[in-house]
Amino acid sequence: MNAEIIAIGSELLTPFRQDTNSLYLTEKLNQLGVEVIFKTIVGDSREHLTGAASLALLRTDIVIFIGGLGPTEDDLTREAVADALQLELRRDPEIVASLERRFAARRYKMTANNSKQADVIAGATVLANANGSAPGQWLTGKYEDKEKIIILLPGPPHELAALFEEQCIDRLRAKLPAQSIATRVLKIAMIAESQCDARIAPIYKRYPDVQTTILAGAGEIQVHLQTRGASLEVAQKRVDQLVEELEEELDEFVYSDNGDSLEQIVSYYLQMRNSTVAAAESCTGGLLAERLTSISGSSRYFLGGAVVYSNEVKTKFAGVPAELIEKHGAVSREVAMALAEGIRERCGATFGIGITGVAGPTGGSVEKPVGLVFHALAGERGTEVVQRNFPGDRQRVRWFATTQALDMVRRKLM
Ligand code: AMP
Ligand code: MG
Repeated sequence: MNAEIIAIGSELLTPFRQDTNSLYLTEKLNQLGVEVIFKTIVGDSREHLTGAASLALLRTDIVIFIGGLGPTEDDLTREAVADALQLELRRDPEIVASLERRFAARRYKMTANNSKQADVIAGATVLANANGSAPGQWLTGKYEDKEKIIILLPGPPHELAALFEEQCIDRLRAKLPAQSIATRVLKIAMIAESQCDARIAPIYKRYPDVQTTILAGAGEIQVHLQTRGASLEVAQKRVDQLVEELEEELDEFVYSDNGDSLEQIVSYYLQMRNSTVAAAESCTGGLLAERLTSISGSSRYFLGGAVVYSNEVKTKFAGVPAELIEKHGAVSREVAMALAEGIRERCGATFGIGITGVAGPTGGSVEKPVGLVFHALAGERGTEVVQRNFPGDRQRVRWFATTQALDMVRRKLM
């Protein structure tokens, strides 16, 4: 079965509020084997909402409405859904009584507008809301000759979650064929999206039953895989089979197949090999240190480092000879190597990392354009350097550079 989620509220159409409830609901629905095939966000307009509801009822089996169940003028979900279904709203005296009790318990006067929260679509089951005043509603029936499940949920995230978990999951499960969804995420470092896809498309195309989504970031690609099966075991086996083939093709480019971050993987490897690392960063301004230390327990392998922006500080804190900078320029292969070797020695680390480059958007030249970065990794048996020309703005270039440096450590220890 498939579903559409309709998030209601004019605030969700402004830059200031985001619809987060649908993310939560999608996860829960996927666990039940339900695929969300549409999400709609609609403002507090009865006409627009009725239109969105009618369309959703035509194209999906399960329609979940979020929000617009409160007491105020702009809460119109009950009315609009009733319009779309051509059903009546009936005021439920039991809900009115419970609202009255709720207000009395708090010594508040119940204003008349609250009563509309007691309006129930004909035939709907009321879903009591333990955390708020507006109850939800559950309704099944035919729309244009097809069976539909319609759920109305309150907007506040904690009310929605409690209500959905306690009162909707079992009801849904009883209506659904036994089916599960299995997912896996492959994380791949420092490969172009097009190159990655060219290599793996012939493989995943042989698995049309597995939904494959490629998400590219700065220096990282995630391949999200998802499939359904009669049981979780069956579905999982199918995804795992594809993961195995993809990993074989992409080989050492894959750094994680279980959700771990690159920082986490580097942490595992360094600890496994009893190794330590130190960093001298120029154009990344400490971002590498920040990423390394984002992992709890990083003091076991990250000794420290220096942000070395000026030439004098490169010499003073990382031992880069002034003549070397003079001769090759601060952004050079030679200086990157000297930074890595210098910081390794001064910190007494197994590995030293040196990064120098042009993060931009100013400071580029013909020989040394914006995005040019040199990354060096110094170890017991010598120093290696990788030169890259990264695209994007300052933040993106810096992120790319630190990902490259982390990936060099990973590959070294793999
Ligand atoms: P409502 O039920 O429309 O009165 O919404 C009550 C409150 O719930 C709003 O002010 C929002 O803060 C929150 N809310 C409503 N819809 C969503 C949503 N889709 N995602 C996150 N928060 C929401
Ligand atoms: Mg609202």
